[in-house]
Amino acid sequence: MTMKSTFIQNPLKSIQSWFSVLGDGLLHLAFPHVCEGCGTDVLDKGHMLCLKCSSSLPSTSFHLHAGNPIEKTFWGRLPVTHATAQYYFTKESLIQKLMHQVKYRGNKELGIYLGRMMGHQLAESNRFIYIDAIVPLPLHKTKERKRGFNQAMLLCEGIAEVLQKPVYKDVIVRNAFTETQTKKSRIERWQNMEGRFELINPSTIEGKHILLVDDVITTGATLEACGQELLKAENIKLSIATLCFSST
Ligand SMILES: [Zn+2]
Repeated sequence: MTMKSTFIQNPLKSIQSWFSVLGDGLLHLAFPHVCEGCGTDVLDKGHMLCLKCSSSLPSTSFHLHAGNPIEKTFWGRLPVTHATAQYYFTKESLIQKLMHQVKYRGNKELGIYLGRMMGHQLAESNRFIYIDAIVPLPLHKTKERKRGFNQAMLLCEGIAEVLQKPVYKDVIVRNAFTETQTKKSRIERWQNMEGRFELINPSTIEGKHILLVDDVITTGATLEACGQELLKAENIKLSIATLCFSST
């Protein structure tokens, strides 16, 4: 009896596992799991970049250092507790290629993956482990509708997975301005083009340490405008993290 059931069960199991292997193989042929950077085969399903590509990304290590160039950007403009940008952004580089894949090719999974990489780096630093919640820098509503997603939100999803913190996406919005541009100051014209931030749920973030996230920081003007609006909520601390730092 034992012999018989073993005889029946084992071939079934091996056929199942054979089909499973075949299925994975066929799936791999149809949708090859390759590195998003160099296109070579990546065997580990959990990764989207090979070790060579991920280690070649130009890390700033700003997360470890107080008074880093990102924090200096906000001195006298916006009271931030800590700020960092993970990689230097240069033209024709791998990080530019990856950001292009996310923003213009709609590779959302890659956006979340890059967010996880940010989460792992932030977790290395005791300066960022005390945040309570993560807020993505909102996109203009029409822009988000056109793109179908907000890349900052994808990064937040990845960070949240690693840091195990909530993401608040409905705390602040970005409204369009449609008034005429004439007779406006430079800042008003900028607001007109970029939209103006509006805190709509201040009670959600009251008393919390918020990590504001965007894909890239250049002059810091957008993050400053958004941060100023977030700081209207009672008793909050504000820190900032971006994927890239572009000095031009
Ligand atoms: Zn690669």
